[in-house]
Amino acid sequence: MPRLVMKFGGTSVADIDRIRNAALKVQREVERGYEVIVIVSAMSGETNKLVGYVREASAGGAAGTPGFYDAREYDAVVASGELVTSGLMAIVLQEMGIQARSWQGWQVPLKTTSAHGAARIVDIPNDNFNAKFADGMQVAVVAGFQGVGDDGRVTTLGRGGSDTTAVAFAAAFNAERCDIYTDVDGVYTTDPRITAKARKLNRVGYEEMLELASLGAKVLQTRSVELAMRYKVRLQVLSSFSDEPGTLVCDEEEIMESRIVSGVAYSRDEAKVTLISVADRPGVAAAIFGPLAEAGVNVDMIVQNISEDGRTDMTFSCPHDQVPGAVRAIEAAQSAGEIEFRALDMDENVAKVSIVGIGMRSHAGVAQKMFRALAEDGVNIKVITTSEIKVSVLVDRKYMELAVQSLHDAFELHKVS
Ligand code: ASP
Ligand code: MG
Repeated sequence: MPRLVMKFGGTSVADIDRIRNAALKVQREVERGYEVIVIVSAMSGETNKLVGYVREASAGGAAGTPGFYDAREYDAVVASGELVTSGLMAIVLQEMGIQARSWQGWQVPLKTTSAHGAARIVDIPNDNFNAKFADGMQVAVVAGFQGVGDDGRVTTLGRGGSDTTAVAFAAAFNAERCDIYTDVDGVYTTDPRITAKARKLNRVGYEEMLELASLGAKVLQTRSVELAMRYKVRLQVLSSFSDEPGTLVCDEEEIMESRIVSGVAYSRDEAKVTLISVADRPGVAAAIFGPLAEAGVNVDMIVQNISEDGRTDMTFSCPHDQVPGAVRAIEAAQSAGEIEFRALDMDENVAKVSIVGIGMRSHAGVAQKMFRALAEDGVNIKVITTSEIKVSVLVDRKYMELAVQSLHDAFELHKVS
């Protein structure tokens, strides 16, 4: 029998009515002849609440200052949210006359590393499920987000990890598709709050999805998309509150339309930092970015320019709230004599806007079209970076919406599907 993985996020299982609604969707697939593996998240808000308890219980864990708690016990606590919803989903399915049972991570077993709180999946053996399916089980309801470590204890996969659970099961059981039910009905050409012209994409490539997700379209956990790409799992993002088809995240070869740009992504709270006049010799970039990495600064764009005096200006961007940490790291390296520069210039009011599309690989002139559109709307570009399927610019934050709208129009994304 063909297999299907169906994952329901927190808002889709937020109460018993919603669990019933989700179960009806499962029933429909069972009736279509699938053996179904359902992955559930905790009820929405539940995991945050559990994390809050852990912080409160641990020494020094006053609000905002996480205590030094035992990560194994953190996992024991936060994994419990999914146990509740998996059991409830199984009960509701049984009420509908479906042969369903719940599976906790260790029962499958979903084997992981023992990096508690951020475990990686190592293996999902098939034998248990295969035996039960052969024995008449129609639906396996799996608690998402959790597994068992090589230390024999409960682990969790990091926040948002049940998407990754779902994709891993789809790969392990060779599922025809992995449907991710959530509270949005798909992936859009851009944020519909910024322009009403945003359109739902019928299909999007894995790589495009990765760029769109990391740039703010946070529909799927990034790791789950990487995993889907590696194992070529066809992923569908769709709403559990409608019957419309969603967006299929799939291999490029499955995308027939010849569109060049698929979406405009943005990230609002960026900052730009420039070290003016650093020496132009080997080792300088390493001396600057080493301390930044150690300080945990997420450096994004990097631009290096030779200035008039034959020295170099080094510009980078990072999240706005990491600027104080970045400045501290740079000044410490300066005091230690590891780097020298004339001045530090900061612009904390910038945003990043990017166009993303696999078609860029084979089409010239895309960047220039982007720059022209921005120029025509009077938007000044501060930094530019490109990759094979993406062009990003930094602009003044107050022009971010305008820039997104202007690019959405320029690439006629209202016509995309
Ligand atoms: N419940 C977990 C979280 O909130 C996992 C998930 O929902 O994906 O992070
Ligand atoms: Mg989620």
